[in-house]
Amino acid sequence: MAPEFIPAAKPIIGDEERAAVDRVLRSGMIAQGPEVKTFEQEFAEHFVQGRTTVAVNSGTSGQHLGLLAAGVGPGDEVIVPSFTFAATGNSVALTGAKPVFVDIEPDFFTLDPEAVRAAITPRTKGIMPVHLYGHPFLVDQIEAIAQEHGLAIYEDAAQAHGASWDGRPVGTLGAFAMFSLYPTKNMTSGEGGMVTCSTEEIARQLRLLRNQGMETQYANEVIGFNTRMTDIHAAIGRVQLAKVDGWTARRQRNAAALNAGLAEIDGVRTPKVHENAVHVYHQYTVRLDAGERDRIHTALKEEHSVGSGVYYPTPNHRLPSLAHFAPGLDLPETERAAREVLSLPVHPSLTEGDLERIVTAVAAVVRAGR
Ligand SMILES: *Cc1c(COP(=O)(O)O)cnc(C)c1O
Repeated sequence: MAPEFIPAAKPIIGDEERAAVDRVLRSGMIAQGPEVKTFEQEFAEHFVQGRTTVAVNSGTSGQHLGLLAAGVGPGDEVIVPSFTFAATGNSVALTGAKPVFVDIEPDFFTLDPEAVRAAITPRTKGIMPVHLYGHPFLVDQIEAIAQEHGLAIYEDAAQAHGASWDGRPVGTLGAFAMFSLYPTKNMTSGEGGMVTCSTEEIARQLRLLRNQGMETQYANEVIGFNTRMTDIHAAIGRVQLAKVDGWTARRQRNAAALNAGLAEIDGVRTPKVHENAVHVYHQYTVRLDAGERDRIHTALKEEHSVGSGVYYPTPNHRLPSLAHFAPGLDLPETERAAREVLSLPVHPSLTEGDLERIVTAVAAVVRAGR
């Protein structure tokens, strides 16, 4: 009998989430209302030391509207990594600004500070680093560059709920930060996004843009969207918020077990953590030999029923949608990472038996190719 499949990611939804949805449905108030407001406040207290937060219907909306609220628009450039989910560059492009793709540093897969410096032009308005896989970007160096050149930082914290740098929580480091609440992220509201804001003015602009440009009903001040979160989603998010720290601790323990199990296997390079960083392991990502990665990915699934994921196989500056922003651009570390990375299951539902199976499977599959 084939062993049970271990998925690469697994959202955890319990009786409390179901009860919370039922409570909202029975109340008759299901669009944006009191649950959203409470969720915003609880999220702020939990993760970002009370910064003002604005809930929206997705991380991508939050990132797009955050950029608009921060004044990014046509004629501006925003420096972004190419090694990320397409939403990062998309949100810049959607404002009419130009995403300027730069390379990553090889240790933590985050923006390379020297590459950022080299990409600055008179049109650069800000830098949008990604806390990729749940590991914060190189905050000290990127902040120093931003300060030196008078640039804003916009955080893509989609994958990094609870991560921190030198004791400073992610989500408190930029003009705004976006957290995604998509089902596979470290916590979910179904779909959703939370934006943390450094100023009340950015928060006010975000609230306007989220709701047709209205603060007062039918007194529309600016041209806006409908990107409101529903109370149904907020109720799920509030329950998840009470559980996320326990899940993060599980992710960190799972990562430690995988590190220990995989350390001695030639051809597997386990993830590094910067000494200033708290990593929340949205993904546990190893590097493999480029020529072996796809074979290992397939064999884990087909021979061992172990799921894994490639995040991300195509650098954003090579995507058909975004390539026109960067004709002929060569980002060697980005290209190398795209060929070498494989994310193994690290989610909180894994048992000790699952972790042993993952280690044994990776060891067997990697050795078979040597
Ligand atoms: C998930 C994700 C987003 C977008 O969030 P959604 O909630 O899916 O819209 C943006 N950036 C990164 C790095 C992500 O992982």
